[in-house]
Amino acid sequence: MQKYYAILFVVLLIALSPISASASEPFSVFACEPEWKALVKAIGGDDVKVYSATTGMQDPHYIEARPSLIAKARSADMVVCTGGELEIGWLPVVQRRSGNPKIQGTSDAVFFASDYVSRLEIPDSVNRADGDVHASGNPHVHLDPYRLLKIAEHLVRQIKRLDPSRAENYEQRWQIFRSQWSEAIAGWESQTSALKGTKVMVHHRSWSYLFDWLQWDTVAELEPVPGTPPTTRHLTSLLDIVRSDQPAAILLASYQNPRGAKWMSRKADLPIISLPFTIGGSEDARDLNSLFDAIIARLVDAVSKSNE
Ligand SMILES: [Zn+2]
Repeated sequence: MQKYYAILFVVLLIALSPISASASEPFSVFACEPEWKALVKAIGGDDVKVYSATTGMQDPHYIEARPSLIAKARSADMVVCTGGELEIGWLPVVQRRSGNPKIQGTSDAVFFASDYVSRLEIPDSVNRADGDVHASGNPHVHLDPYRLLKIAEHLVRQIKRLDPSRAENYEQRWQIFRSQWSEAIAGWESQTSALKGTKVMVHHRSWSYLFDWLQWDTVAELEPVPGTPPTTRHLTSLLDIVRSDQPAAILLASYQNPRGAKWMSRKADLPIISLPFTIGGSEDARDLNSLFDAIIARLVDAVSKSNE
């Protein structure tokens, strides 16, 4: 009986202890885009609670700093975003208005994925005046799976530093993620190896890192400047490129306006491939693996058809 009371006492002590209550609270992450939410979840499992500020059907360049986003940022222990100026129009406002001291400025708890990989398309001169939304290089780094792995490695290190009591759990999940992801890369590469050198047109430079990995060529962009809608004048000027380079297709993210792509498709007799840009951009893109599966399957299917 005495032993029973002793156990009861210990149980009560644990239940009432404020320290144990806060230790069981998940680590709270505010992610800017669904791909980073998925990556945090893959590494954090039940130890984290993640919110994504945007969905796969929104343009992450143009988001409003709505009160609901600010409210979510208020309780965040960490912010995980793309960086490279992608969220420059809204994230600083969310950080400031949240009043959350943990996530201000360049705090350790503010993680920008694109800071950890080499960035493509860095312009010689800054071109913001023309409305260029990629003035410090292309920020869309998540579609090269090797860059994603490198980002994940840095993300794990940072989460472990910020939430050291659960570091072992994060480390274990990271090891599993790394080996599964490397295996998945091998599968995607074997599906696409015969298509190296494929030429495509794109609406926006959303796929530069994907094609850097797959060794495909982007011969032209429908936007005259990244972030500026296609004009008839610009599209007409691209018809020469279509004739000389003979791209296989026009690529469009499912959230992007298809008007320019449709115009070009009619004039140049090219198929349009609509792709999920991130998780939630199509029904089958539910997590990082199925996002890449969905993109690769659509590319392989469309390009094989156009080669027939
Ligand atoms: Zn962009």
